[in-house]
Amino acid sequence: SMERDMEQCRTRKHTVVLVPPPLQGHMTPMLQLGSILYSKGFSIVVAHSEFRPPDPLNHPGFIFHALSDNLSGYQASINNLLDLISAINSNCRAPLQDYMVQLMEDQKLQGYQVSCMIYDALLFFVDSVSTHLKIPSIILRPNMAAYMLSCHCICKLQAENRIPFPESRLQEPVPELHPLRFKDLPYPITNAIPEWLMDFNASSINIRSSVATIWNTTDCLEHSTLSRLQQCYKVPCFPIGPLHKLEAAATATSFLEEDQSCISWLERQPPNSVIYISLGSIACINEQELTETAWGLANSGIPFIWVLRSDSIDGSQLDDHFPEGSFKSLLGERGLIFKWAPQKKVLAHRAVGGFWSHCGWNSTIESICEGVPMICRPHFADQIVNARYLTYEWKVGLEIENVVDRGSIEKSIRRLMVEVEGKEMRQRMLIMKDKLEAGLQKGGSSYESLNDLTEFITSVSS
Ligand code: UDP
Repeated sequence: SMERDMEQCRTRKHTVVLVPPPLQGHMTPMLQLGSILYSKGFSIVVAHSEFRPPDPLNHPGFIFHALSDNLSGYQASINNLLDLISAINSNCRAPLQDYMVQLMEDQKLQGYQVSCMIYDALLFFVDSVSTHLKIPSIILRPNMAAYMLSCHCICKLQAENRIPFPESRLQEPVPELHPLRFKDLPYPITNAIPEWLMDFNASSINIRSSVATIWNTTDCLEHSTLSRLQQCYKVPCFPIGPLHKLEAAATATSFLEEDQSCISWLERQPPNSVIYISLGSIACINEQELTETAWGLANSGIPFIWVLRSDSIDGSQLDDHFPEGSFKSLLGERGLIFKWAPQKKVLAHRAVGGFWSHCGWNSTIESICEGVPMICRPHFADQIVNARYLTYEWKVGLEIENVVDRGSIEKSIRRLMVEVEGKEMRQRMLIMKDKLEAGLQKGGSSYESLNDLTEFITSVSS
């Protein structure tokens, strides 16, 4: 198959090797970056884990290579995500190195070369391979830039012996990190942070020997944060987001099958009438929250599309706990439940007027791009930082007051969907959407940054 691979490389002189982890929120932006660079004339190789591989049929121009990872039979869940990442970091190192050696030899024979390796911020191991083989590496950060600064802050607090941090001061602003308060930092700081988590945090802010960083964010959202990071890291920083809007055509990247039937249902709903609810690919809720959300939705009178994955409920099967009776009778008519939806299409549909989200960065930026205001229900890590920006800084989302109480849920949904407050949030979202779109046009910040990036990749490789 190496021969076939080379056949494909032949017309494209510079090859970029992408190394994504098998997490939806990280795989998607990496594949999007791949399509963008492919359209700029680079040859794209994706070296991925065997565990939960991307579907090559969705990217006919790319070359895919599975790295053996010893993970067959692994059951990924929210509780062992970092174990999964750490297993990939240790198990895939040798396979990646072997593959790269072979790829480089073959490319050399053809008179072509591997320009650089671009790897996800979680896959620290790639650095040792690229340094060993003297190939430049670049890190792709799929988060908001402000999240990085908040991770730096955790390190600083720990170094200054300020963790555990007093509960009574959590509402105070973090100096130099406006708009974040101590309670908005990505890890709970009122208890000691376990050493493995501190180590992980330290690794994730370290860019090692990478020659640049790429961000799925944009200068118009995060200008000052990005310039601070640029100063701190000393290497070029390319904010080229939102990636999904830079692609010539949307590529399919979902691990789970997207249920398209919601679109015909949406066609029958009035503009801005439907709330879309999704907690991304990882976050879970407990049974009580499931029940309260169901009744809050039912009582709000608002039509809904609700994504519940088969592993969305903590430690049990969805069907065992679903409210019976009058809630179930709403389904099909006033509301739909899906295991996985074509989220970007749903958000872009004129019938969708609000998004109840866990505030993962992909979901956040997808919602901004479609001008859909949000209900923010962050679960962990960067979601907490993103939610603070959405609710407080940009004022395009509201935080739900008490998620385990159907009354508060009903009230929040109505505030977003029918009250003046929600309309004002939608207006502000539309202004943000316009700004993001302007950044993608010729002369706009992401557009120019992408051109700089392609020139940079060509120059580091020659
Ligand atoms: N997504 C989707 N269908 C769904 C739920 C989510 O296509 O039913 C996509 C969503 O569009 C986004 C990604 O999954 O691109 C989730 O990434 P995010 O960063 O928001 O959250 P994570 O899953 O990493 O927590």
